[in-house]
Amino acid sequence: MDLFEYQARDLFEAHGVPVLRGITAQTPEEAGAAAEQLGTPVVVVKAQVKTGGRGKAGGVKLARSPQEAADRASEILGMDINGHTVETVMIAEGANIAEEYYFSLLLDRSSRSYLAMCSKEGGMDIETLAVERPEALARVEVDPLVGLDAAKADEIVAAAGFAEADRAEIARVLVLLGEVYRANDATLVEVNPLVKTGEGRIVALDGKVSLDANSAFRHPDWAGYADESSDDPLEVEARSKNLNYVKLDGSVGIIGNGAGLVMSTLDVVAAAGADLPGQPKPANFLDIGGGASAQVMADGLDIILSDAQVKAVFVNVFGGITACSEVAKGIIDALAMLGDRATKPIVVRLDGNAVEIGRHMLAEAAHPLVEVRETMDDAARRAAELAAAAE
Ligand code: GDP
Ligand code: MN
Repeated sequence: MDLFEYQARDLFEAHGVPVLRGITAQTPEEAGAAAEQLGTPVVVVKAQVKTGGRGKAGGVKLARSPQEAADRASEILGMDINGHTVETVMIAEGANIAEEYYFSLLLDRSSRSYLAMCSKEGGMDIETLAVERPEALARVEVDPLVGLDAAKADEIVAAAGFAEADRAEIARVLVLLGEVYRANDATLVEVNPLVKTGEGRIVALDGKVSLDANSAFRHPDWAGYADESSDDPLEVEARSKNLNYVKLDGSVGIIGNGAGLVMSTLDVVAAAGADLPGQPKPANFLDIGGGASAQVMADGLDIILSDAQVKAVFVNVFGGITACSEVAKGIIDALAMLGDRATKPIVVRLDGNAVEIGRHMLAEAAHPLVEVRETMDDAARRAAELAAAAE
């Protein structure tokens, strides 16, 4: 779950990280009033969208009076930045920037650890810096059991090559950012730029924070971060139906029961598609769980079939407590419920409890869109072929 910059700013402030004052606004009038309230000679009007590169896209502008702040806000509000419409701006105190640095702390799944990245050369193009001059971006592993303590912060600022005179204060701020990360169950805390001002203060001028949604149960206050406007509409729809659905960008819709089976189905479909024209890939993750009733099957199929990218669907079910006969009934009833809305070929693989009855029921129903295959590999290949043929 990603936060807006102003939410990250508030978290930083709550943990003592030096930030500048900022006030959100949704209209040019509010922006003017916010600039008035801040009362600094320069304010910055910043688009609040959950995507990077706002500066380059014209979503970060300086203003020297409340009137100018209102004018800049009217330009930025409604702007499209990488597909995100700006609905809110933050009016922030202007900073007198002497130097721009980069810092991030993130969950590195491949090393099962945390990774801190830090550079003296922050600002807008950190991705380019990482590729073209990787030596300018220090990478330091942070043990999750220890966290970003003072010793680790010293190691990071030394690795990044900061001037001796700046190291202590930057290290102090990094420890506080590590505290933001830990206390909020974050998977990412990124500050770009972390600046040194003309007065020599170290200040976090931008903030990007991602929270681990698995920890939501112990953060009741996160309800305030709910923001369906930034989520994929199909995921929002799926959540409202209590379906465990994640949108991906391939063309083979996937329905399975049990997260493990669905994960391996994604792998098998991706492997089957790799040799085919257009290399069809899975379009989604969808686990309909144990008791796959007709309604749940219909809800799942409905979501998948309304994804315009989907060209074929693979239903992969292993009958356990819910027998294959129940699942077959679910598929048949779901197709009846969907009627004309079911338009794409559906490959079904059933196995396990009452498999013969289930297959027999599907054969009897003889729905023109449904094809039954006996093995998972076969079914995956068939679904990928149908998707490739439909491209
Ligand atoms: P991003 O492009 O989405 O990462 O947005 P940032 O918040 O990082 O802003 C982009 C750039 O705008 C920064 O790298 C700064 O150079 C500049 N900027 C942001 N705030 C201020 C400010 O208060 N004063 C000045 N002079 N520049 C700012
Ligand atoms: Mn930035």
